[in-house]
Amino acid sequence: AVGVDWSPSTLGAAAITADSPEGLVSDYRGFTYDDRGLGIKLARLQTEGQLLHRKAARLTQLAAAAPPEVRAQLEEKIAVLDAHRAAVGAKRGKINRELAFHFGRQVTDYAAAAGATVIAVEDLTTLETRGHGRVNNNRAAQSARRQAVDALTHTAAGVGVTVVSVPARGSSALCPGCNEPLARPGGYHRAWCGQCTVGGHRDHVAGVNLAKRALLGRGKAVRKRGENPRIRVVEHAPVRRCRDKKSPTPRRPRHRRVRRSAPAATPPVGVNQTKIVPAPQASVWDTVQPATPQGVTGSREVHTSPTPATSVVGSMRSM
Ligand SMILES: [Zn+2]
Repeated sequence: AVGVDWSPSTLGAAAITADSPEGLVSDYRGFTYDDRGLGIKLARLQTEGQLLHRKAARLTQLAAAAPPEVRAQLEEKIAVLDAHRAAVGAKRGKINRELAFHFGRQVTDYAAAAGATVIAVEDLTTLETRGHGRVNNNRAAQSARRQAVDALTHTAAGVGVTVVSVPARGSSALCPGCNEPLARPGGYHRAWCGQCTVGGHRDHVAGVNLAKRALLGRGKAVRKRGENPRIRVVEHAPVRRCRDKKSPTPRRPRHRRVRRSAPAATPPVGVNQTKIVPAPQASVWDTVQPATPQGVTGSREVHTSPTPATSVVGSMRSM
């Protein structure tokens, strides 16, 4: 099973728990979704939309108590602001959709590569998105999680993987091995259990927990028409750490833009090129100055070819 944990910064992270003959095992290595900057773009558009809304509301207030000619001006401004806000909203909708399907695709690929049969997502109705500060709460409330779940269900169905929702409570706070609270040695994002000697990134541990809940509650899923199967009970069984390779090696992000096949730019004629001369092999025993080759010592006149000049002269003459 693959467990998907929602996180405010990137959309989510995933990790794997397997059901082996000796009990549940996991390699405690997860996969963090890389949203290619779409999340921050959404947050920016959201702020912009709110700003436009506030501005329009203020102008409406002013227009109510303004003389007629000023009111006409203000109403024009309000119309512009509203059009802008509608455009920002449409753009957000498009980006949300793209983000949701990109996320669905990535997680489905991850699950398919690991040979999983079920993907566990946090039940959005039991999710507690409070107490993380105003900015993060707002972002979480507006985020495209519902849409992401739908997209994930759709793409996962394509490879025959079921998406189930499991209770979210305590998924990133409790140890998957012993069900005790986890320590946070390196701050909020790190998790560690000293007894079981397991841990890792908070979201990945949460993914292990969610996958565990899905595996344990397999027989007790409630199905409703038009909804994903839902597991309501949380059971506990220790998840051991295993060193077997269970999950695919995460791909490394490619942020560098490398142009591989583009031809080298041709230098413009008549511009002095800086020539790169390889440094002579130096040795501590060298006392004699190495002889400089002829071409390199030459000053500017040697480098500039006389051809452009003559051609210019020639063309002048022919005129
Ligand atoms: Zn533990």
